[in-house]
Amino acid sequence: MTTLFVSDLHLCARRPETVELFLRLLAGPARDASALYILGDLFDYWAGDDDLGDPFNRRIADALAALATPKFFLPGNRDFLIAAQFGVASRLTLIDDETVLDLAGQPTLLLHGDTLCTDDLDYQAARKVLRAAEWRRDLLALPLAERKRKIEGLREQSETAKGGKSHEIMDANADAVAAAFRERDVTRMIHGHTHRQAQHDHIVDGHPCERWVLGDWGAQGNALAVDSGGCRWLTIERG
Ligand code: MN
Repeated sequence: MTTLFVSDLHLCARRPETVELFLRLLAGPARDASALYILGDLFDYWAGDDDLGDPFNRRIADALAALATPKFFLPGNRDFLIAAQFGVASRLTLIDDETVLDLAGQPTLLLHGDTLCTDDLDYQAARKVLRAAEWRRDLLALPLAERKRKIEGLREQSETAKGGKSHEIMDANADAVAAAFRERDVTRMIHGHTHRQAQHDHIVDGHPCERWVLGDWGAQGNALAVDSGGCRWLTIERG
């Protein structure tokens, strides 16, 4: 049986072509899979589950709900406000960032990937603030429209900051990667976030380990298909 992994679709109403690709994934490869894991940043941003009233968000939730294959979601930095109500509406199971899964007999760490980018000190400092329960509670207490404005503002700041940073700073840090393999006692890791689709081979304490970085979605969709034979990339193209 094949398990599928995707991340960084950044779905939004402004990019209908990516939505079309996502619907193709759900109607095709995901139907034949034993499970579908979404490793964060499904949406370009998520302002809170009360935004399920938005027709675009509802359409995505309905499309997921219609897929019988078991579905799992872990939060990205764009959509970490996704909560129980979205899970119910989409009929998917919310899992924690950094979940270990036994995948065809191989312990595999699933994560969004932003926690590995430890060289980006500004980002990690901001992440700590944004993920605090207090900040989340205060934000969710705001009216939806105000919350959206605030999130748009934060996004603009983050995009501006990214412009001044090197690719190396925004990539996964080798020590953080080794530490994650070691601490979670896994030999395989699957994550997204950096948008740099690749397979990396690592040696950690003498053990060969593999790290699969999922690509983002744009003109085409990307997924990783895993079964007992190993991992292979899957491309979803427009019809
Ligand atoms: Mn991300």
